[in-house]
Amino acid sequence: MSEKLTTEVLVVGAGIAGTTVALALARSGANVVVAERGAVCSGSSGLNAGGLRQQFTQATSIEAGKDTIRQMKTFQDDYGIDPSFRQAGYLFLHNGGRHLATLERAVATQNRHGVDTRLIGLEELRELVPGINTDDLEGAAYGPTDGYMDPNSMVAGYAAGARRAGVKILQEHPVESIETSGGRVTGVRAGGVSIACDVLVNAAGAWSPALAALYGATLPIKARRNQIFVLDQTPAPGRLIPLTIDLVTGLYFHSEGSGIVSGYAEAPEIPDAPPSIACDWDDLPMLVERLIHRVPKLESAGVTHGWAGLIETTPDDNPIVGWTHLGNVYTVAGFSGHGMCLAPGLAPHIAAEIRGATPGLDLDIYRLERLDAGGVEPEGVWGGEGISRGTAEVPA
Ligand SMILES: Cc1cc2nc3c(=O)[nH]c(=O)nc-3n(C[C@H](O)[C@H](O)[C@H](O)COP(=O)(O)OP(=O)(O)OC[C@H]3O[C@@H](n4cnc5c(N)ncnc54)[C@H](O)[C@@H]3O)c2cc1C
Repeated sequence: MSEKLTTEVLVVGAGIAGTTVALALARSGANVVVAERGAVCSGSSGLNAGGLRQQFTQATSIEAGKDTIRQMKTFQDDYGIDPSFRQAGYLFLHNGGRHLATLERAVATQNRHGVDTRLIGLEELRELVPGINTDDLEGAAYGPTDGYMDPNSMVAGYAAGARRAGVKILQEHPVESIETSGGRVTGVRAGGVSIACDVLVNAAGAWSPALAALYGATLPIKARRNQIFVLDQTPAPGRLIPLTIDLVTGLYFHSEGSGIVSGYAEAPEIPDAPPSIACDWDDLPMLVERLIHRVPKLESAGVTHGWAGLIETTPDDNPIVGWTHLGNVYTVAGFSGHGMCLAPGLAPHIAAEIRGATPGLDLDIYRLERLDAGGVEPEGVWGGEGISRGTAEVPA
């Protein structure tokens, strides 16, 4: 006889979205089971650059990013795990024109929401990133309270907190089928276990469309392959440099041990998202060329390793958050390259909404239905879909 479970809320996926929402739900008194296909943090949440920023264009995203960074302050006390948050700041390099216009508008909105971002000139930029070539730059947007962390530690902490709050996390339990009746999900089969639930939360990241397909629906989320390499040298030995995103070349980098982590914007679509994706060393020359242009002293650096992951993009680079398709399915997916920044800050509001309360943040900009009407203002500072199209900017 196969095992049977009954739960109030079944969360599918144990990445940053699934673990933070499960934790917030349990704290609000809900009975929660998480079904995860592999291990906790085995999807995109374990494969990213670890950047945490408040530099967004949408007010809700700015507030969510603010709260995520606030959570970092007490993370170790709260969950017993050091997330290795390094508040070294975050830079967006620009060369004037449309990038500057985007950043000016974004900084003004961030300042209205109490975030201490500002536009800086080349002299200050050269102090923050020693050895940077500024010949083709005009300045940067700088967020001194942003930074970067270790993604695996962060998700492990939230998962530990969720377990302590009573959440049952089933690893190696892929959801393979979903039963529906009367326009509602009644339960799923996951790794040989039948799980009956009142609410199903789709937090399956790049695989959330495949999960929705199990009950016959579609989600406009594309999986895009993105590549990272690690170098054994830094332009500033002995100190941390800000996470630096170069809007001119599409390059980014930040300190990592005695070297740097670096990646770039290009993110080709991968249809039918596979469970994992291999590192492509053919991409290395493109990265090296951009890095040597921006930080010439890295010419002698060696590359120690690299990996690739999937960025899950929506047409406007804002996530899909809310009730979707059926009466009791709630989707939290499509973070478009900024799920680590947004999910922890959004999770308490998402849990409140699932429990029938009014969320403290305006989640309406994230509803699936917005995309029928052409979407909301695209997330312009930096988002997976926009940067892949070369249009990561706020329209004038
Ligand atoms: C190279 C790269 C760099 C990035 N850099 C940053 C950054 O600096 N900052 C930032 O904020 N974001 C960054 N991102 C984006 C970030 O990683 C994602 O937005 C975030 O991890 C999405 O979290 P998630 O929980 O929605 O998805 P995931 O972490 O992918 O979790 C989904 C989970 O669902 C599970 N699953 C799928 N199907 C099923 C099923 N049928 N049954 C059970 N479980 C299932 C998967 O195994 C997976 O564990 C980057 C991404 C990449 C690839």
